This record gives sequence, structure tokens and C-alpha cells, in this order.
Amino acid sequence: MTTLSIPQDLAVIPCSQCSAIAFLRVPSNNSIFQQFPDTATGPGAPHYEFLWRDAWASSLPVTPPATGFFTSVVQVVVAPASRGSITLASADPFTFPIIDPAFLTSEFDVLVARFAFKSVRQFMNATSWQGFNLGLAPDSIAETDEEIDAFLRNNTAPIWHPVGTNRIQSKDGKEVGVVDSKLLVNGVTGLRIVDASVFPFIIGGHPQATVYALAERAADLIKEQFAREVPGQCWTETPRYTGISREKSDSASKTRIHLSYFGQI
Ligand SMILES: Cc1cc2nc3c(=O)[nH]c(=O)nc-3n(C[C@H](O)[C@H](O)[C@H](O)COP(=O)(O)OP(=O)(O)OC[C@H]3O[C@@H](n4cnc5c(N)ncnc54)[C@H](O)[C@@H]3O)c2cc1C
Repeated sequence: MTTLSIPQDLAVIPCSQCSAIAFLRVPSNNSIFQQFPDTATGPGAPHYEFLWRDAWASSLPVTPPATGFFTSVVQVVVAPASRGSITLASADPFTFPIIDPAFLTSEFDVLVARFAFKSVRQFMNATSWQGFNLGLAPDSIAETDEEIDAFLRNNTAPIWHPVGTNRIQSKDGKEVGVVDSKLLVNGVTGLRIVDASVFPFIIGGHPQATVYALAERAADLIKEQFAREVPGQCWTETPRYTGISREKSDSASKTRIHLSYFGQI
């Protein structure tokens, strides 16, 4: 029997696009880790996730019941080992690049996805769900590992969290990247990249909050550079993501100029 490992600090949380999310770990004594290094972003960070939706999303060719309670569960590998790629298809900048997400190309991801599949089935078989019309993984007829893997390969899709196409290089320079630790593009003067493309890998969760943190860090870096290159100018406070206006002070004249947060830095 599969044992669910739900760390105390990782709970089921409400979600705007779905009814709830749970972040979970594969137990550290699982045989997966005898074959592969642990990709979780920390000792308490998750390997996979359940997303509940109040909807019918069956993988079987059956007509949904007309009435009743519905729930479907999407499972997500949140610490994948597989790495996709983007390659230029042509020197013409208007030609779309070749994007290869390379889903499930690492056997580690297949094993975690299979573990997650069994976990969600066990969870949704609990008596609490009796009477619900269940969608996706719980209604798959897959039983053997081979059948489960085939089901996963035929039903895998992204959940809109692509990152890392302009990854940041490591501070010691051992891991090469497109941008340096100050987010400046290597080999180009004065150009920074400030978006999720600089993440070296996907975080163990959803990326939006980390994008905000990155934007805050970039604002500080730009202010520091501004203060060095334009002596006598300084920023009076560290911006926070609130959307309200911020102040810049000219220390020589003591005048104060209001700037919008993203406006002029
Ligand atoms: C449907 C969906 C649901 C999501 N739900 C969640 C969620 O619940 N939680 C979560 O954490 N994350 C979620 N994400 C992921 C999250 O939105 C992204 O990781 C995040 O927005 C990435 O931020 P970014 O700044 O890198 O890129 P973006 O937010 O995509 O910003 C890129 C900006 O660049 C602009 N742009 C593009 N091309 C040009 C150009 N040539 N010139 C000028 N501007 C340009 C675009 O208009 C856009 O404003 C979701 C994503 C999607 C698509």
C-alpha cells in the first residue's frame, strides 16, 4: 500500500483557479531515491501536488452524470528532473522557435508521477468521497505500473509554469547562464532580464510570488547602480509590491519627486 507523507508544514490550501491544492513529498525511504538524487528544492519541499477542481474531467469515454457533486484531481510533478529546450528555428526573428518541453524524459519524473497517481487514487478512494463523481486519475482503469505510465504519458500537460530559458549563472560561475547574479545579460552592456526565465529551475511550488521577489531584487540592483552612477541621488525607501507611488529624493536640493513604482527606474 502507498503511504501518503504529508509534512506538517505543507497543508491543503485554498486556490482561486481550483478548489484546493495540496503539496506532498515522496517519503525519503522510497526506492526512487536509491536510483536518483532528490530534486526537491529543500528538505521540506514537495515533490508533487494535487489540484482539486469542482468539475468533471474524465479520461474515460463516458458521459458525465447529469447531476451530483463533481470533483477532479490533477496531479503535478513540482520538482521535475526533465529539462526542455528552446532552439531557434531560423535567423528570421518572426519564425517561431522550436520548443521541446521534454516532459517525462527523466525516469525520475515518471516514478514520481506514478507515485502521485497511486497516492491520489488512494486518497480519493476514502469513504469521504463516496457519492462524488470523480474525474481524471481516480477514474482511470490503469492498474499495473506499465498501464499507469502509459496513462500518464497520454494525459500529461503543462500547468503554465515554464521557466529557465535565460537561467541565471551560479555566483561562482561554475554553472553558466544567460544572465549574471545582477541579472545583466552576459556579453551585452546595460541589459537586464527580470522575469521567470532567469530561474535556474522551477521552484517547488507556483512561481508568481517568486517573480515578485525577483522584481523587488531587480529594483534594488537598479537603484544601487543608479546611486553609484548618479552621485547625489538616492532612493528614500525600498519599494514593496503595493502598486502605490514611491518617492525619490534629491539629497542636494531636498526636493521630492513622486514616481510611480515601475515608472522611471
Ligand atoms: C493560465 C495561467 C495560470 C497561472 N496561475 C498561476 C497561479 O495560480 N500561481 C502562480 O504562482 N503562477 C501562476 N501562473 C504562472 C505565472 O503567471 C507566471 O509564472 C508569471 O506570470 C511569469 O512572470 P513573468 O514576468 O516571467 O512573465 P509574464 O507574467 O508572462 O510577463 C511577460 C510580460 O511581457 C509582455 N511581453 C511579451 N512580449 C513582449 C514584447 N515583445 N514586448 C513588450 N512586452 C512583451 C507580456 O505582455 C507580459 O506582460 C499561471 C500562468 C498561466 C498562464
